Amino acid sequence: MRALAVSIVCALAAVVTPAPAFAQPVHYDIAVHLEPATRVLEATARITVKAPEATTIALARTLAADYILVDGEPLTARGVTRGGERVWPVAARRGGHAIEIRWRGIVAPIDLSLDHRGTLGRPVAASGPDGTFLPSGSYWYPVIGNSLGSYRVAIDLPAGQRGIVAGRLVEETVAEDGAHAVFEFAHPAEGIDLMAGPYRVETRAVRTTRGSDVALRTYFAPEIAELSKSYLDAVQGYIDLYEARIGPYPFTEFSVVSSPTPTGFGMPTLTYLGESVLRLPFIRATSLGHEVLHNWWGNGVYPDLASGNWAEGLTTFMADYAYKEQAGDDAAREMRLGWLRDLAAVPPGHDQPLRAFTARTHGMSQIVGYNKSAMVFLMLRDTLGTEAFDRGLRRFWLEQKFRVASWRDLQRAFEAESGRDLAMFFTQWLEREGLPSVRIAEASRATSGGTHLVRITLAQDTPAYGLRVPLRVQTEQGDEMHTVQLASGRQSFEIEVRARPTEITLDPEFRILRRLDQAELPPILRQTMVAPAVVVALAVPGAEWTPQAKRLAGRLIDAAPVFVDEGASLPRDPALLVIGRHAEVDAFLARNGLPARPPAVAGTGSAQVWAATRPGGAPLLIVSAGDLGSLGAVERLVPHYGRQSYLVFAGRRIIARGVWPSPAGGRALR
Ligand SMILES: [Zn+2]
Repeated sequence: MRALAVSIVCALAAVVTPAPAFAQPVHYDIAVHLEPATRVLEATARITVKAPEATTIALARTLAADYILVDGEPLTARGVTRGGERVWPVAARRGGHAIEIRWRGIVAPIDLSLDHRGTLGRPVAASGPDGTFLPSGSYWYPVIGNSLGSYRVAIDLPAGQRGIVAGRLVEETVAEDGAHAVFEFAHPAEGIDLMAGPYRVETRAVRTTRGSDVALRTYFAPEIAELSKSYLDAVQGYIDLYEARIGPYPFTEFSVVSSPTPTGFGMPTLTYLGESVLRLPFIRATSLGHEVLHNWWGNGVYPDLASGNWAEGLTTFMADYAYKEQAGDDAAREMRLGWLRDLAAVPPGHDQPLRAFTARTHGMSQIVGYNKSAMVFLMLRDTLGTEAFDRGLRRFWLEQKFRVASWRDLQRAFEAESGRDLAMFFTQWLEREGLPSVRIAEASRATSGGTHLVRITLAQDTPAYGLRVPLRVQTEQGDEMHTVQLASGRQSFEIEVRARPTEITLDPEFRILRRLDQAELPPILRQTMVAPAVVVALAVPGAEWTPQAKRLAGRLIDAAPVFVDEGASLPRDPALLVIGRHAEVDAFLARNGLPARPPAVAGTGSAQVWAATRPGGAPLLIVSAGDLGSLGAVERLVPHYGRQSYLVFAGRRIIARGVWPSPAGGRALR
C-alpha cells in the first residue's frame, strides 16, 4: 500500500521490502464478517505456506485467536508480544505448512478528526458506520513472516454497507440482509487492506482501445455519488493512455474508493481517497492519473527498495510532468524550473544520492526521490530520443511485469533498445550527491572563411559530470539551438551558426539537472513569504486599510512583520512586502527606486499580486488592490500560490497567474 500526500504527490509506503525473487510463498484464503455499528470483526483463514523455512504468525493484540491449527495440530508454542502484535513461531517443515485460524475482536472506532499524516503514522484497524479501514500494517489478519502473498478474501457486511480489497471481484451478492463479496488477487501482494462503508457502487465494464476488458468502479459515499461518472471517465482515459505507451493494463479492475478521513492511499487496482479530496477538481487531472499509472510502475513492477526506488520518479515523469507537457511548453518548463528551484534550496549535506531514496519520508528525500528522479528520466529521453526511450519502457515492462526490478534492470532495458552504453549516465545520477554546476567561462564570436562561429568554454566543478548541454545562440536572423557534450571540468567548443551571433545562453529551458544560480531564478511570491525578516510598507492614505493590511501581512509571511511608516526610508537589506491601492503603490515603487508594476498584471482585475527583486537582491512582494473590499477578497487565496510570480484577481477569482521568464540572460558575444 502506498500513501499519497494528496495535494503534492504520493509516497510509497511499502512497509515490507519485497523479496528479491518470489515464488508466491504464501496464499491466504480469508472469510471476514464485520459489523461496523458494533465494530465487531470475526474471521477465519486457511493459509498455505509453500516455503519450508521456519516462519511466524503475527496478529494484532487487540484481536484474539480462537484457535490456530498448523498442519492439523493445535499450535502449542506461546506467542510473544512485538509492538502491537502477538507473534507465534512456526517451525521449519519440508513441504511448507497448512495453517487454519479463527479470530475475533473489536477494532478501534474510526477517528474522523485524523488528518492524512495522522492516518499515515498509525496503521490501526478502525471501523464505524461512516467507514472501515483495515490496513495490512494493523495486522487485522494473521500475517505470515514478511512474505509477499496472493489471496482470496470473502467479505460479509450488514445491509447498507459494501466492502472491497484490492483484486478481482469474483462473486458478489447484495441482499436485504447484507452484502457478500469475494475478491481474488493472484499476484504477490505486500499485504491486504480492507475498506468498507455506506458506499454507492457504480460499475462500468470497458474494453480498452488495446482490447483489455477492465471493470471500473467507484465506491463513493452517498454525498459524493454524483462525481462517479467523471471519475470513471477519467480512469478510462488514463488506462487507454498508459496502455498505448507501456503495454496492456495488468489487472482486471480499477476502483476509486472514498474515505471519510482526508487520506490518500494507492494500492494495486484501486486508490483510496478522502471524500474532501475527491471533491477537489484537480485530483482527476493529476493525482488520479498518477495513481492509475502506479498499476504499471510500483504495483505491476515492484521497485527493489534495497537499491533505490525508481517507481516514484518514473510515475511523476509519465504522469504529473506529462500532463504539464500536454498543457504546453510553458507549463512543462515551469515544472522543471520548480524542481530545480527546490533542489537548489536543499542545503549542502542534506542531499542524498538518488539510489538512497527508498521513499516514505517527506521533505528532502521527496525532493530527491521525485524531482531529481523525474528529471533523470527527462534527460534520458532527451539523450535517447522519444522512440528509443518508449521502446526501452515497453521492454522493461515486458521483462519485469510482476517482478522486483532495480535501476540496473531499467538501465539494461534502455541500453538494449538504444544500443548505447548508459553506465556513466546511470552511475553519475544515481550514485552522486548534489548537482553539477555548469557555467560559461568564456564566449566570443568569430568568422572563418565566411562561416559564423561561436567559441565557447564551459566549466564545471570536478569530478566532472558527463552532460549533454543545450545552448541557445541568438543571431541576427533568429535563435538556434545547439547541444554540446561536456565531459570535463573545462572544455571549449566551436559552434557553427547561420548568421552573425549576438548572445549565447546555457540550458535556457532548464532541461539538465544542475544547481541553479540565484540569478537564474525568476522571483516568486514564496521568497518573501518565507524570508527570515520582512519589512511591510502600506501605500494608501489614511488608516482605513491598516487593520485589513495587517491581517493580510500576518497571513502571508512567516516572519513577524515590521511595519514602516509611509515616507520613512526603507531599510536596505530585508525582504519587502508592499500593500496598497493601485495609484499609491505605483508612486511608492517609483519614489523608492523599485521595479514598476509589470505589464502582465497592469490594468486588469480588481487586485494584483506580484513578486520582484529589490535592487540589492532581496525579494519584493506587492499586493495592490483597487479598493479595500478587493484587498479583503484575496487574503485567503494568496498564501496557496507561493510558487507563482504573479496573480490577478477578479474579486475572489484568479483570472491570471504565472511565473516570470527566467532572468538568466545570455552571455553577450563580442
Ligand atoms: Zn506515487
